Order: sequence, then C-alpha cells, then structure tokens
Amino acid sequence: MAKSIEISKTKKKNEIVPLNAPQPDPFNSIVWNAIYENATDIHLNAVDRGILILYRVDGIIHEKRLLSENEGRQLMNQVKTAAKLNATKSFIPQEGQIKWPDEDILRDIRVTVVPAGKNAESAHMRILSFPQEGWSTSKLGFSEEDLESISSAINSMNGLILISGATGSGKTSTMYSFASLTDLRTKMAFSIEDPVEFNLPYAQQIEADERHGLTMYQGLQTILRMDPDLVMVGEIRDRDSAIVTSRAALSGKLVLATIHAKDAAGTVDALHYLGVPYYIIGGSVKLIVAQNLMRRLCQKCAEERTPSKEEKELFIEANLEAPEKIFDAKGCKACNSYGYQGLVAIFEIAKIDPDTAHLITDGIHQQQLRDHFRKIEINSMMVDGLIKVAQGITSIDELYRVCDFKAKD
Ligand SMILES: [Zn+2]
Repeated sequence: MAKSIEISKTKKKNEIVPLNAPQPDPFNSIVWNAIYENATDIHLNAVDRGILILYRVDGIIHEKRLLSENEGRQLMNQVKTAAKLNATKSFIPQEGQIKWPDEDILRDIRVTVVPAGKNAESAHMRILSFPQEGWSTSKLGFSEEDLESISSAINSMNGLILISGATGSGKTSTMYSFASLTDLRTKMAFSIEDPVEFNLPYAQQIEADERHGLTMYQGLQTILRMDPDLVMVGEIRDRDSAIVTSRAALSGKLVLATIHAKDAAGTVDALHYLGVPYYIIGGSVKLIVAQNLMRRLCQKCAEERTPSKEEKELFIEANLEAPEKIFDAKGCKACNSYGYQGLVAIFEIAKIDPDTAHLITDGIHQQQLRDHFRKIEINSMMVDGLIKVAQGITSIDELYRVCDFKAKD
C-alpha cells in the first residue's frame, strides 16, 4: 500500500535535500527544490530509461535529473497519492490538487498525470501561490504617467480594458492588480476564468468548466444577469464570449479581459478575428495593455560591459539615450547558476483616445494602427525593454529572446 505523504508545515531551506543527492523522499524534495528555485512548473517526463525531472523557472525549462525506472515509479505513486488520484495505472489523464503549506504562504499544486505508453506515465505539476503582498500595481513597474491612465480608465467604471500577451506572460496578475485599483468591497465584481488561477478577495470567481457544460459564454451570460459593476474575463478565446464581453462594456459595465495577442495593435485585430465588428471595438475599448515577461538579471553576479556600436544604435533609433554600460548574465550560487532571478514585465500601454477610437471604428489596418501608436508616443514593448536594459534590470540577450529581433550585424 502506498504510504500517505506527510507534508511538513515548514522546512528550512538548508534542510532541503539537493536533487543530485540520494533521495530518501523524492516527491518531497522535488517539490521543495522547485519552490526554492522559484519554479512555476514541475514536469516529470517518462523517457526510455526512467523519469526525467524538469523545472520551469522564470519561463525557461531546465533539466534537473533523470530518475531510474524504479525511482520514477515510486515518485509517480507518491504524486498520485498526494493528489488523491487513482493509484492503479490509468489509461486516461487524471487531474488533482495538493495543498502545500509553507510558513504563511499557502501553495496550491495542480497535478495532471497522463499515460505515456509502455506502462509509463508522465506528470505535470503547476505550483500556484497567492502573493503575500496581495494584488498591487506598484510592483509591476509602471511609470507614474501610465499608472494615471490605468487608474482613470478603471475608475471611470465603464468600457473595456484589454490585457494582451502570449501564454504565460502574466496577464492574469495584471488583470487582478488593475481590479484592485478600485475598492472592490463597494462593488459587485465577478470573474469568469478558465481556470481560476488565484484567489482575488471581494470578487465572485466562477470557473468555466466545459466538461460539465459551463462554457465561458454561459458563465458570462449568468454574470451579466447578476448585477455586476465589474466583470473580469480570463481569457477571451471564442466568438460568443468576445461579442458578449464587448457588448457588456458598451452597456456601461467595467470589463477587464485578457486575450492572446502580440502587441496593442494586434489586440484590436485579435478581437476582430473572433468576430467583433470594428465599430463595437472602437466604441468599447478604453485601454489596451500588451505585456511580456523578461527574466531579471541576478544582481549578485551580473557582469558589466560597454555596449557595442550596434547595440547603442538600438537605443538611439528608439529615441533613448544610449547607456554607457549594460549587463550580461553570468551565474552564481545565489541564482542556481541561471544568471537570472525573478521576472519583470515589459508593457505597451495604449490609451484609446477619441481619435484612435475613430481609426479603429473605421477599420484601420494593423500596421497603420501600430504606426499611429508610435506617432502619439506610445512606447512599444521593445522600447520599454530597452529602458529596462539601460537600468541594468535585464540583459540585452534576454530582450532579444523575448522581443524576437536582433541588432544589425
Ligand atoms: Zn547570480
């Protein structure tokens, strides 16, 4: 019989058994090591010779260790027991949850175990933790001017605010922190999410669950009958929810929604491709915030150097002063040799003024809208990234990785 997992209430970091040492309790040390490295995901992948352990840290996958078939089987049993899953081998994916208490943080670990052929199974564990400091825009790194645009859009309490970016770019955190700019205790705030990632105090959070018949669209319809002041949608993926979301914003509700798009101009078309007419987008959208995440340089080991001529030109072309020095990632004990520690968001914050709303209503081409944003001095994410490189927060290599461009050779 599988032994049930005793999860210690607190564990000092120096008591964690490193992954390259013999593992008396592989599951416990895999989770603690992941938390210690600030990993968001743990992957246990079935491979030929056993189970390969990988962590995702600051968006990047790192291979950690290969367990033998025997160790792998023991680990997988521990995972299934902890997540209260069917312990016998299963032919369908199973999902479960583990509560993982640690001092004053309560972490939720969402577990998915899938069959991986030849009697093997793979697993994914997503580590979710509620931020101790609550949801706040102050940590996100907005300029004072941007924060003013955001606050005034939120406090007008109507219209659509779109937060766009790639998967895993931190859109949900931004949406919650925006909602927290208004006093939620005095409002009826609802969210429909797939899945609910974090707990937002004073909001009624509904989880879309298509397998049991609750689609995003149905959830939204229900919320709109429940007298909401503020509606949060995470995220808009289908035509019906796109249209209902935009119409709710036109009818005098404040709607915050996340959507997959690469930048602010692309966000308008992402909504249009889902079937929302340009005149509704032009009439409802008040603000578009496009974002991405970059890794922060480890402040203990970042290496200073003079930027090359080509790198300096990047700053000058962006109308920025070229910095005297920039920093590269190196790697030390403090950052587990990654060279980076933690994340910083880069933003493009496009306030939709009446002129821009007209252009959108007229169906302006995406590239022309992008040019228009530059003309009215809305910084692109790349420019925001360059500012963060000049400030030594991140490296230029990290900006290349995230923004998909290169200095001219
Ligand atoms: Zn370091």
